[in-house]
This record gives sequence, C-alpha cells and structure tokens, in this order.
Amino acid sequence: MSTSRAVCVALDAEDPLKDCRSSFVLPEGVIYLDGNSLGALPKAVPAALKTLTEQEWGRDLIGGWNQHGWIDLGREVGAKLAPLLGARAEEVIAADSISVNLFKLLAAALRLRPGRRVILSSAENFPTDLYVAQGLEALLERSRCELKLVPEAQLAGALDDSVAVLMATHVNFRSGRLLDMAGLTSAAHEVGALVLWDLAHSAGALPLALDELAVDLAVGCGYKYLNGGPGAPAYAYVAARHLDALEQPLSGWMGHADPFAFSPSYEPAPGIERLQAGTPSVLAMRALSAALDLWKGVDMARVRAKSLALAALFLELVESSSALADLELRSPRAADERGSQLSFAHAEGYAMVQALIAEGVIGDFRAPDLLRFGFTPLYLRYVDVWDAVAGLERIVVEGRHREPQFQKRARVT
Ligand SMILES: *Cc1c(COP(=O)(O)O)cnc(C)c1O
Repeated sequence: MSTSRAVCVALDAEDPLKDCRSSFVLPEGVIYLDGNSLGALPKAVPAALKTLTEQEWGRDLIGGWNQHGWIDLGREVGAKLAPLLGARAEEVIAADSISVNLFKLLAAALRLRPGRRVILSSAENFPTDLYVAQGLEALLERSRCELKLVPEAQLAGALDDSVAVLMATHVNFRSGRLLDMAGLTSAAHEVGALVLWDLAHSAGALPLALDELAVDLAVGCGYKYLNGGPGAPAYAYVAARHLDALEQPLSGWMGHADPFAFSPSYEPAPGIERLQAGTPSVLAMRALSAALDLWKGVDMARVRAKSLALAALFLELVESSSALADLELRSPRAADERGSQLSFAHAEGYAMVQALIAEGVIGDFRAPDLLRFGFTPLYLRYVDVWDAVAGLERIVVEGRHREPQFQKRARVT
C-alpha cells in the first residue's frame, strides 16, 4: 500500500522546514514543481524593490551608488552566496548570467594552463555550457582551444594531460543525475587539469563544499533554487589560490582596480571583483539579495533530507499507480545519485505536462519526451506531492491530455 494523504499531512506537521513556506508568495490552488527552473517569489523581494525605487533611486538618484552601496552589490551578494557554496566570501561574486560567466572562466582556465587546449565536457551537459565553449573554440581556433565531448559517465576516464579544464554540471538538467564532485575534481587534479562546476541545479538544493573539495572554478544562477527572480544575476566562484593569476577576457571597467580613475589601460581589481565586466543591474541584485536572506539559519542537511524524501514520495506514488505505469523513470533510482528533481519519459509527455498545468500543478517538459518535476524543500509540502501525483493520475485515467489545447507547443516549455 502506498503512502496515504493523511500520512503526508502528518509529515508536514513534523517538518522542521515547515515555517519557511510562509516566506513565499504562492498562488492559491497552485502546486509548484518547477522551482528548479524559476524559484517562487519571496515576500521580501517586492518590499526590497519598493525600498530601492522609492527611498534610494527615487530620492537619492545617482547618489545611491555610494549612499546605498549599489557599487558593492556584486561582492555583497557574493558573500551571501558563499555559505551555500561552502566557499569564502572573497571567492564569490554575483554578476551577469551563467553563460557570460562561463565564457570568462573557461578563457581564464585556458590561460592558467598554458600548453593545454582541451575543454573536456559531455554532450549531455546543459546546451549553453556547450555553446559558450564552442564560441570560445571558434574565437581562439583549434590550436588553442578544443572542446572534447564524451558521455557523462566517461568524464573521469577521458582526463589526460591535454585537458586544461573539466567543465561539468553537478546535477544534470534532464536526468537529475548528481555527478561525483569530489571524485571528478581530484581526478582532474591528478592530471594537472582545473575543474569548472556548473551549480545551476545544486546551490539551494543540496549542501556544497567547494573549498573543502579544492574546486577551482564554479558558476551558478540566481533564479532557480535561489529564488532571485526571472533573469536574476548569476555568480562566479574562483578558489582564492587562483585569484591573483586569473585573467578573464571581458575586462570591463567594473573589474578594474580603480574604475573611477578612468585610466586608459586595464588593470584587474585585486580580488574577485575582477570577474565583473560592466555595471551591475542594481534592481536585480537587490531582488536576489533579499531572496538570499531566507537561507540564514537554514540547515542544508535538512534541505537535502527533505528534498530526497519529497522525491522518494513522488516516485513511490507514481510507481504504485497502474494508470501511470507507462511513465519511465529517467532519473537514477538511487537517491544519493540524484539532485532535487525527477524525470520521466513518456511519448505524450508534453501534453501531460500541459494538462497538469491546467489543473494547477506546474511541472515542466524537456524535449524530446521528458516530464520533469523539481522539489524545493523551502516551500513544497508532502501533501503537495501527494496531490500532484493524484492530479497526474486523474488526467491519464480520464485521457484529458489528449484534448487538442494541450498539443500546441509554446516557445518556452
Ligand atoms: C539554467 C541553467 C543555465 C542557465 O544559464 P544562463 O546563462 O544563466 O541563462 C546554465 N547551465 C545550467 C546547467 C542550467 O541548468
């Protein structure tokens, strides 16, 4: 017999994270299983933006850069991110998008490993990671940069002394597979390569220990598990030992040692600020900054435990439903090999997700056939998981997903 709804209600009552939910704006009647794509709105964010617009920008105009510390926001937000990454404040900066930060750090990694030209990654990696590496390859030409792709499971075996940097995403966005950060990082170091981890689906979902594992470089985004809002600033991590020698090619004035000296020649800022290129988006930084305050006092071991429990419940309920027998699990079955999502393949997956959204259960679809469900322990309840699977079962039993309005593909899936 599978877990009853009453048991889920009891689990919610005992949940040590249960009070976090009230910090979010969650529309009535919606079950949100897509916080791994766009985190929910923290209540503190509209208030922070109101203060910024009314009391800072609206009143103090350009004076805000000094009076309200706008100029330091990249570093300040980086310092709030650092504990979530297992990093020190001076190693993290909030800036730009993951794509842009990847460009900076991949180019910097190649310069830190002269004589090596290979960026090693896997074809299963998130497309923007591959596209940015391809762009760099085209810019630098083959003799200085070559993107080498192997299956994700073969990354360790493909490391050799031609590799300048291993670029890997910690949690695969399709399958939710969690790569072995400790093992791959030390395997890369054994051949003298650097590692660059993409933490898009990791930070805010599970504990991270970048410093302890001697990770070299990392990037991640602010709008998924970190709830910074659509297009929130991303971040970059550079281990302190690399900072002095790190040269990144987007050498804009905000990464200069003294931007307001207006010197004609570039001189990098001494620390992590050298990763900045242009003027930060102050509105977006403030939104992310307010969202990050929610993590104060949150134990990431508890977040991980609840994330795994929510996913295990979802899987158990799906697998105990004969109506859902055609859903094929595409995430690892072992909980410790997963991030905070589950993916299932089904030929009618797109329409099923659309029909589910029409019922108020928001998941997403990833081409060609994946239904993807993300679990965000700060605001998702056990009872939500139960209701979501019950909703999916109802749709399939009634054949609702076959209705014509659920067949048409939108631009963003
Ligand atoms: C979401 C995501 C990105 C997004 O990159 P942006 O440039 O910030 O849009 C990159 N990599 C991974 C693995 C992602 O999941």
